[in-house]
Amino acid sequence: MSKKILGIDLGGTSVKLAILTEEGEVQQKWSIETNTLDGGKQIVPDIIESVHHHLDLYQMDATDFVGIGMGSPGAVDRIKGTVTGAFNLNWKKKQEVKKTIENALQIPFFIDNDANVAALGEKWKGAGADNKDVVFITLGTGVGGGIIANGGLVHGVADSGGEIGHITIDPGGFECSCGKRGCLETVASATGILNLARKHSDEFAGDSTLKNMIDDGRQISAKVVFDQAKEEDEFAKMVVDRFAYFLGLACSHIGNMLNPQYIVIGGGVSNAGEFLIEQVRHYFEEHSFPNVRKTTKIRRAELGNDAGVIGAGYLVKQNQTHSA
Ligand code: ZN
Repeated sequence: MSKKILGIDLGGTSVKLAILTEEGEVQQKWSIETNTLDGGKQIVPDIIESVHHHLDLYQMDATDFVGIGMGSPGAVDRIKGTVTGAFNLNWKKKQEVKKTIENALQIPFFIDNDANVAALGEKWKGAGADNKDVVFITLGTGVGGGIIANGGLVHGVADSGGEIGHITIDPGGFECSCGKRGCLETVASATGILNLARKHSDEFAGDSTLKNMIDDGRQISAKVVFDQAKEEDEFAKMVVDRFAYFLGLACSHIGNMLNPQYIVIGGGVSNAGEFLIEQVRHYFEEHSFPNVRKTTKIRRAELGNDAGVIGAGYLVKQNQTHSA
């Protein structure tokens, strides 16, 4: 039997696991709840137990696997295989993830930041079409990113390469959780679009359902803003236009710097669909160097929730090639 890869996508509410072929085909997938109680100390033991259980179920053992890959939130030390400061997992102190998992499962283990791993997934089997120059931007509660240049992830000297969410697109703008102002994340995330909606609602004088909802103090979500814009609500259209402007501007900076084949946009907010991507493309093209405009393409992500486990599989493959 050909060898398999185990991909793990560790998140704040669930851990997704998958058994993949070396070609990146998902053969089995399942998920478990992330138990963040007690400083998240059950998370790694729960993963180990779940892997044991499923390997028994499929009558497989460690020798069937070339490796385990994992994407994790927080600050990841790729060499030591540790994770620090993953607050959505309640991991405040350093966690010895690699050591614990390798000792228990006897399979080589590789780990990287979750956004980087999702970027590898989209590059390999998703919208990146296995191109060697792909940038991935994920729009969720925050904005994450991963840069693949010349076939490899860009980590930088201190693993802060690809912090696309903190590109300054509006100097002096909204305050960001990172401590500075005007970051992409403050306008192009699920919470960012609400920042824009509240800011501009005072200036808008016309008739708008969205504006009325904000003025009435009703809870609104990013989805409400996009849905209203699709319904031709003038104010919602203006908010989405600002959102697309900032995201398109950030994409032009990425394009002018890296000239990737694809800038892939994913994450929950990207579910607004081609409607949003078209507007982002418009501003991207307006601000791009002519040859970048012609050659770098903006695309929607294709793998959805599977990007993490598939990218974790690619992480194993890459490390194999590098050590071979
Ligand atoms: Zn920031």
